[in-house]
Amino acid sequence: MAEETITRFSTSSGIRIYRIPVQVFPSLRAYAHLVVADDYTALVDTGSGQGPSDEQLRAGMAAIADDWGEDVSWAGLDRIVITHAHIDHHGGLNMVRQLTDAPIAVHELDRRVLIHHEERLALTRFRLGIFLRRAGFDETHRMRLLKMYSGGKDLFHSLPVQDVMRDGDLLDGLFRVIHVPGHCPGQVCLQVDDMLLTADHVLPGVAIFLAPESLTASTGVDHFLQSLRKIAPIKGVNLCLGGHDRPVQDLPAAIVRIERTQQQRIERIYSACREPQSISALTRSLYPSISDYDELLAIQKVGAYVEYLDQRGMLEVANLDEVAENELGVPRYRAL
Ligand SMILES: [Zn+2]
Ligand SMILES: [Zn+2]
Repeated sequence: MAEETITRFSTSSGIRIYRIPVQVFPSLRAYAHLVVADDYTALVDTGSGQGPSDEQLRAGMAAIADDWGEDVSWAGLDRIVITHAHIDHHGGLNMVRQLTDAPIAVHELDRRVLIHHEERLALTRFRLGIFLRRAGFDETHRMRLLKMYSGGKDLFHSLPVQDVMRDGDLLDGLFRVIHVPGHCPGQVCLQVDDMLLTADHVLPGVAIFLAPESLTASTGVDHFLQSLRKIAPIKGVNLCLGGHDRPVQDLPAAIVRIERTQQQRIERIYSACREPQSISALTRSLYPSISDYDELLAIQKVGAYVEYLDQRGMLEVANLDEVAENELGVPRYRAL
């Protein structure tokens, strides 16, 4: 990917928001944001802590001081905000903690991922193992997927979190907190004047990742769609800065587009279930050439849409006799 430089945005009251590109995974770029208001500075998200991410974050902070003339430094940082506890947004915290004592804020539902990371990783991995078995993956395939799930995440070490955010809070008198569960339990959007930091809740081009709620409470398609409706009426937003991809100018239009995409995905899964299908068979037929980590993401996505349809009574388990008595049974879903 081509090098990308820092971009500066200014809110309606003159607060500067610097967008720092970081290569969080080999094929994924994300953005950390530095928010500067008078003598207050906050870092929103910290990259993945993997590959070049830490170094790019440090270089970004240095460039904002040197090239843009802001009086900012790690030692002078007032706040670290984590928009949601996915590793591409909080993985850099271990490095950042060495450089600054600034208090960390995260939504109350994602706090446990930061303070009990090892425990969360082990428990989610366990639930994912059960999900993959019921999805129809054989033992070798399942072990490979589980190994991939932990890879990279196990580099992160738990650390204390000083503050939690809740819906409606005004953090540090500056960030209006809007809790938007779905992509992640503690996902928040942060409004600063006429700008909205949407993290991974609203993205223009990147397909928003959703996993089934059976793996983690407060995620899933239903929560995500409700959270889209929650931000639709917000007035006075002239620009959205997400955690990936380009900025969004027209929030209502972006929401309509995302809802349409979600609807298409739901319908696609529903049509694919005309013949009874396991989640592994559905994933293979809908994403025939996918591999590695993308495969793991695709399986969870398919699981999320199956769950959504199932919750609404749109599917039935065609082989109920087989799965009712057997915890190793693989349900095959049929559209009604
Ligand atoms: Zn995310
Ligand atoms: Zn992300």
